[in-house]
Amino acid sequence: EHYNVDQKIQEFIAKIEAKNPNEPEFLQAVKEVAVTVIPFIASRPQYNGMKLLERMSEPERTIIFRVPWVDDQGEIHVNRGFRIQMNSAIGPYKGGIRFHPTVNLSVLKFLAFEQTFKNSLTTLPMGGGKGGSDFDPQGKSDMEVMRFCQAFMTEMCKHIGPETDVPAGDIGVGAREIGYLFGQYKKVRNEFTGVLTGKGLAYGGSLIRPEATGYGVVYFAEQMLKTINQDFKGKTVTVSGFGNVAWGVIKKVEELGGTCVTISGPDGYIYDKDGITGDKIDYLLELRASGNNRAEDYAKKFPGAEFHAGKRPWEVKCDVAIPAATQNELDLEDAKILVDNGVICVTEAANMPSTLEAINHFLEHKVLFSPGKASNAGGVATSGLEMTQNSIRLNWSSEEVDSRLKEIMIGIHKACRDYGKEEDGYVNYVKGANIAGFVKVAEAMLAQGVV
Ligand code: GLU
Repeated sequence: EHYNVDQKIQEFIAKIEAKNPNEPEFLQAVKEVAVTVIPFIASRPQYNGMKLLERMSEPERTIIFRVPWVDDQGEIHVNRGFRIQMNSAIGPYKGGIRFHPTVNLSVLKFLAFEQTFKNSLTTLPMGGGKGGSDFDPQGKSDMEVMRFCQAFMTEMCKHIGPETDVPAGDIGVGAREIGYLFGQYKKVRNEFTGVLTGKGLAYGGSLIRPEATGYGVVYFAEQMLKTINQDFKGKTVTVSGFGNVAWGVIKKVEELGGTCVTISGPDGYIYDKDGITGDKIDYLLELRASGNNRAEDYAKKFPGAEFHAGKRPWEVKCDVAIPAATQNELDLEDAKILVDNGVICVTEAANMPSTLEAINHFLEHKVLFSPGKASNAGGVATSGLEMTQNSIRLNWSSEEVDSRLKEIMIGIHKACRDYGKEEDGYVNYVKGANIAGFVKVAEAMLAQGVV
């Protein structure tokens, strides 16, 4: 029987591979899900033969478009825009927009695929989508960013809407970009609606949305630690990235009595043995706003901190590691160092920051490990809360949003535990998240016929 299931997994992966050549990130995400979900499907007769996972691996719709814009010198540039409408079984497509030179079809398909499971885990009615462009915001003027956003939305507004597809931010897309995108949507469609989330507070945004991803990650990690009767008090935490997500993580860890000692950028990482605390946390906002993407600036501002050029923070001894930068930033070698140094918990804050080999190493060594699609779901969950507030035309207080966020993260943790608990009591959060996320989407798809 095991042989049969293994064969099914191999056949499925081969099929998806043949259909999607040259899409390594997408295949990586599908493989991780296939290995855990196919055995589950095999145990449920009603799912057999319904090609549920195969249907989920094919976007409902892929939109690729030209984004021409004019820079400050009057030169014309042509970028490529994308929106992947992955799965709408449980709600309108929902997911961020990424502006980064590494954006391509494979990256966005992996993100949209993960988003479908993540959004399902939140229990809110949101399908999966993702979009973006290979546009590089680094070094662009404010007006150039605005013109690019307007050009991007001029096309994208034909494909989205509050009941159809609700984008938000991701890498390279923050409050400023969402503002420009929203302004253009409103102008072209002549509609004031909750079509985007992550909006400014003055025009329909939600309190806590900027902090939500990071806070949610830490609420989730708190639950993981609780399973071994531990908490954040006195814990040393390593974090990568210095964007929005890392900022929220560092703030909440401090609040819970732990100390974050690293951040990183494309140039290398910072080790601040005294801890990134107090005013230093606010400095992260400045660092990000400066737009030059250099972690090294932190060591210039706070000379107590060391800068390690071209390296990643995983070599620093820690209790908890929180990768919060980007995909595949933590490989097998890093995982080995972390395990050898005694890490007890790895909670992903970015989307797919660990390679498959790194994940397997953590699981083999029974380290608490949670995949981004579960632990970073607080961002999109709070986007869902923003959509609710827009629909009822009311704004909730910070306390209200934060308590709902926390409740949702506790719920996701429980769902992962229910589906991921192994015979020896170890919780395989990868398996738990994939199966729990799959079930709701699968049930909806089964009910809706072959669509
Ligand atoms: N980009 C974020 C994510 O990966 C947020 C998406 C959203 O709020 O729609 O979940």
